[in-house]
Amino acid sequence: MLHEQLRTSIVRHCSAMLQAGLTTGSGGNISVRIPESRHVCMSPTGIPYDNMRTADVAVVDTHGAVIDGDRNPSSELPMHLAVYAARPDVNAIVHTHSPYAATFACLREPIPAVHYLVGFAGTHVPVAPYATYGTPELAAGAVETLGTNFQAVLLANHGLLAVGPSLERAYAVAEEIELVARICFQSRAIGSPVILDEEEMRRVIRKFRSYGIQPSGEGD
Ligand SMILES: [Zn+2]
Repeated sequence: MLHEQLRTSIVRHCSAMLQAGLTTGSGGNISVRIPESRHVCMSPTGIPYDNMRTADVAVVDTHGAVIDGDRNPSSELPMHLAVYAARPDVNAIVHTHSPYAATFACLREPIPAVHYLVGFAGTHVPVAPYATYGTPELAAGAVETLGTNFQAVLLANHGLLAVGPSLERAYAVAEEIELVARICFQSRAIGSPVILDEEEMRRVIRKFRSYGIQPSGEGD
């Protein structure tokens, strides 16, 4: 089977996403790019994660044409392909509807540096403009907001998009940002959290880079 190991890893991470409460049912999606072949392996549309098999994970080319797999790729394929086209450093994307991140997405409010772990995404987590799910407009807004350095963006009234050089890293970004969103929500519920300033967040990001947590690059 083409890219069997990677496709199995996608199934495993989809299941983990469900177990961790980062999504429900068949919501959200995961893809991985193989730089050598430029193929993209993507979780399928409409299959509950509990029932997903390796062969259900679609393999597509850079234009989205299906090369292998028993199912069609997720309806958010255009967004994933647009991110890969814009960001050569990104080889994996994890999109969730995780409840605390989605809460900020519904407020259309960036997640601030309430906790240093926001550095997994950047100095903060910005919000991409609202567009109907699965559309080129949503893809364009997500790409523009991600820019060249952010590792995660909120999708207005929708959820979270996390990226990384590997599936493990993109998944970790999704997990850590959900934690930061929850901490922000909770700390606002009982008080006024102190937000770390940009200078401190840049220091944290430099430190993360020396541990390999944040990919190298300048700026956000
Ligand atoms: Zn979604």
